[in-house]
Amino acid sequence: MPRIAYVNGRYVNHLDAAVHIEDRGFQFADSIYEVVALIDGRFADEVGHLDRLERSLKELQIPMPVSRRSLKMIMAELARRNRARNGGIYMQVTRGVATRDFKFPKDIAPTLVMTIYPANFDVAARKAKATKAVTVPDIRWKRRDIKTTALVAQVLAKQAAAEQGAYEAWMVDEKGFVTEGSSSNAWIIDKKNNLITRPTAQNSILKGVTRNALQVLCKAEKIKIVERAFTVKEALQAKEAFTSSAVALIVPVVNIDGKKIGDGKPGGITCKLMDIYMDYAVDANRKHETWTPK
Ligand code: PMP
Repeated sequence: MPRIAYVNGRYVNHLDAAVHIEDRGFQFADSIYEVVALIDGRFADEVGHLDRLERSLKELQIPMPVSRRSLKMIMAELARRNRARNGGIYMQVTRGVATRDFKFPKDIAPTLVMTIYPANFDVAARKAKATKAVTVPDIRWKRRDIKTTALVAQVLAKQAAAEQGAYEAWMVDEKGFVTEGSSSNAWIIDKKNNLITRPTAQNSILKGVTRNALQVLCKAEKIKIVERAFTVKEALQAKEAFTSSAVALIVPVVNIDGKKIGDGKPGGITCKLMDIYMDYAVDANRKHETWTPK
């Protein structure tokens, strides 16, 4: 894959792609982002991701950097210039560049950058992977519903996971309930085959676009989803566990804090969901689900 990035209206060599040192994304994390999977030449859940991007910007009172139509064109053009059919698009919008001052500067244009990186969506290979998670305290701010680049708590969480040989860190609130993964939503499946995932109430989690699509897909498949918070103890006793996010899609979690989940192998329902989501993502005749904040 050639490495071409997009920066404020220009397609540039990835090595030369840069923003100014007084960019507010750099100084304050005054900035939001989205990640979208490109699977077999089609952007998975593009509508939902752009719905959420617009909403994140609105919550921070940052204007759209370009129209939604232009955003879609830039995504497609970036994929074309990188000759990518499979990958992950990363896009970030900051409030823009200004002399450092906490208040919103007047009359500045938002910064828009986009990159694309390779990814492999071989579901069979993904099913064969045994993925571990660990739990860590959730030390983030209270507006987790906005997809900001203020991610240092997640950096620490993911590092803690990596140091324990795990892929993901499930963050836990003061009451012992799992909020979500450091870069994913967290799910468990109980003995009665109920899918359990935390509600989006109180802005305690990011409402995942993948999570949103799964809710609609499960309804059609008559798989029951129960939106409620669950404890670490419940997770350890679950039949199956998994995470959901763009690009990683659905990842079976077979071990939490060193304890086997179920029989320690990716579960049957989780594997079925991986197939269902993939069918939905690549089906060019199927409309994407929309995303709303609640
Ligand atoms: N929660 C957090 C904290 C995340 O970073 C992500 C990934 N962006 C998700 C959930 C999953 O969201 P999505 O399915 O839209 O990628």
